[in-house]
Amino acid sequence: MNTDAAARARLIRAIAETVLAHADELTDLDQAIGDGDHGLNMKRGFETVLAESATLAEQPLPAMLTGIGKTLVMRVGGASGPLYGTLFLTLGKTLPAEPTAAEAGAALAAAVDAVKARGKSEAGQKTMLDVLVPVLDDLKAGGAGLPARLAMVAHAAAEATVPMRAVRGRASFLGERSIGHMDPGARSSALMVDAVVAWLEEQA
Ligand code: ADP
Ligand code: MG
Repeated sequence: MNTDAAARARLIRAIAETVLAHADELTDLDQAIGDGDHGLNMKRGFETVLAESATLAEQPLPAMLTGIGKTLVMRVGGASGPLYGTLFLTLGKTLPAEPTAAEAGAALAAAVDAVKARGKSEAGQKTMLDVLVPVLDDLKAGGAGLPARLAMVAHAAAEATVPMRAVRGRASFLGERSIGHMDPGARSSALMVDAVVAWLEEQA
C-alpha cells in the first residue's frame, strides 16, 4: 500500500476524531469499572496527535506511527497510555513505508505481542487485548470481506468483554463486580479499528 502525506493526514485525523467524538462514552465506561479517566486520558493524547497531524503526516508511515506512539506515551497516562504507545511504537518499528497486506499483518502481530508483554496480559482478561487479538486473528485468517469484516469483529469482541471478569488493570480490583460492563480499553480499541477500516476503504 502506497500512502501520500494527504492520505496519512486523513488516517491520523480519522483515528483521533473518532476517539475524541467518543471521549464521554469512554469516561462513562471507565466510571463503571475503573476510575473514570479513560475518556480524558485518550482525549488529552489524541488532541495532541490531532494538533501535530500535519507534521506527523509529512513523515513516512513508520516514522509517523512512531511519532504517534511517543505522543501517546507522553500525553495519555494511566495504564492505557504506555500500552497504546507501545502498540503504535511497535507498528512504527515493524512496518515498512509501503506495506503489503502480509507485512501489515505481521506488524500488527508484533504490536499486539508487545502490548501483551508490556501489560503482562493476554486475551480473556477484559482488556483492550480482547479486541486487538480477535482483530489480529481475523486479519491473519484472510479471505473475503476484509477490511470491513475487521470492524464487525472488533465491535463484537468489545461487546464480548461485557460478561467477562477483569483480571488486569483497575477493573480487576472489582472482581465479580467488573462483570456486566464493557471494558473501556476494548471500546477505544474498537473505535480505532473502525477509523482505520473506514480509511482503508476510502483508500481502495
Ligand atoms: P487506568 O486504568 O490507569 O485508569 P485507563 O483508564 O486510561 O487507565 O485505561 C484503562 C484500560 O486500559 C482498561 O479498560 C484496559 O482495557 C486497559 N488495560 C489496563 N491494564 C491493562 C493490562 N495490563 N493489559 C492490557 N490492557 C490493560
Ligand atoms: Mg482509568
